[in-house]
Amino acid sequence: MFGKILIANRGEIALRIQRACREVGIRTVVVHSEVDADAKYVKLADESVCIGPAASKDSYLNIPAIISAAEVTDAEAIHPGYGFLSENADFAERVERSGFVFIGPRPESIRLMGDKVSAKRAMVEAGVPTVPGSDGVLPEEPREVIRTARAVGYPVIIKAAGGGGGRGMRVVHTEAALLSAVTMTRQEAHAAFGNPNVYMEKFLENPRHIEIQILSDQHRNAVWLGERDCSMQRRHQKILEEAPAPGIPRKAIERIGDRCADACRKIDYRGAGTFEFLYENGEFFFIEMNTRVQVEHPVTEMVTGIDIVQYQIRIAAGERLQLRQRDIVTRGHAIECRINAEHPYTFTPSPGRITAWHSPGGPGVRVDSHAYTGYLVPSQYDSMIGKLICFGENRDQAIARMRTALSEAVVEGISTNIPLHRELMMDEKFVQGGTSIHYLEKRLAEKKANQG
Ligand code: ADP
Repeated sequence: MFGKILIANRGEIALRIQRACREVGIRTVVVHSEVDADAKYVKLADESVCIGPAASKDSYLNIPAIISAAEVTDAEAIHPGYGFLSENADFAERVERSGFVFIGPRPESIRLMGDKVSAKRAMVEAGVPTVPGSDGVLPEEPREVIRTARAVGYPVIIKAAGGGGGRGMRVVHTEAALLSAVTMTRQEAHAAFGNPNVYMEKFLENPRHIEIQILSDQHRNAVWLGERDCSMQRRHQKILEEAPAPGIPRKAIERIGDRCADACRKIDYRGAGTFEFLYENGEFFFIEMNTRVQVEHPVTEMVTGIDIVQYQIRIAAGERLQLRQRDIVTRGHAIECRINAEHPYTFTPSPGRITAWHSPGGPGVRVDSHAYTGYLVPSQYDSMIGKLICFGENRDQAIARMRTALSEAVVEGISTNIPLHRELMMDEKFVQGGTSIHYLEKRLAEKKANQG
């Protein structure tokens, strides 16, 4: 096992990784930008290194600075968390070439899955069903684009091959709007991801977002840890997740889970990962794979009792998975609310000083957050300041506990989306379970219309 790990991330996930390390006696180095220097989780780490100014490109995305920090502190391995450099194959390669272990998949796997077009192709080969659409990258030729859209059938969605974070996507309802949408998405993709390639998919009108968590070691042992339902989204970004997914037949989940584990063996995948699907009319369609730990991993940890971050570390150290598929039993129900520093209905970011912070507690309540009274939420990064996760013996109990927890939570000095979560916990359709990915946006639009 490693003696010391460097954490190349910030915020709640930097704290989460520290906790996983501390539990098994691994020392931690946290790198941080100038604005994060006084954060409590930075002080909690065994060592910390300032790697640059606030702007991500000068700090959390600064590869040479991160590698130097690992060198001067004698770290053995680097955990990238999520976001930032976590899915950057060049970073993974530089880490390994510099003699450190990258806690994540091999660079080839990151590259394969980072390009959504090659990822879809690999999944087709591995027997995983995908969303119908263009055969690979859309060609330049306008007539070809029109022909493809007619064959797929409107509405279609144009997506950037290198996209992520819910960006680089455009829905097209009519042929008249098609070509300009393709051009715009190409331009945006080029500017945002350095890759102008786009592809086309059928736009599913009523799907749910269901994903499968996997763990795969370096010896071709792979297991899947159940599913998560992440359908509650705004602008293709998740705000609330749960496990298991309400109302989906277990047999259907088992079939797709086994396919995912098989795919991991086929591509010789290493580490934790997530296969994301859209689920509609009883069918699963692969959309992409995330080759890192995800924000919503705690709901899976709560229902399986498996520490996903610790397994990432064990796998990177070369350990064999001691888990067999039959050992993985899910119990109860877990829900996660992402707490963002933003206005609950306009969604404008709300950075600033937290003047009061009270965490909820009680049975089945988990709070993953680096925030505290007096903490200054910087304006330079993602607005998520924590996650509230509640476990119950069943979904009703998980919801009841989440309602209580949200009623106890106090955050003053900045705005948060806690009021929105409180509303959602009382929402009839959510309580019923099984809402589609478009539900939240429709609900928000209705609310706005009623007020206006
Ligand atoms: P990203 O990498 O940016 O997260 P994804 O491909 O995972 O992009 O898609 C994010 C979300 O966008 C999905 O969860 C879903 O809400 C929506 N989406 C993506 N593809 C489709 C599609 N073909 N039809 C309908 N919605 C889609």
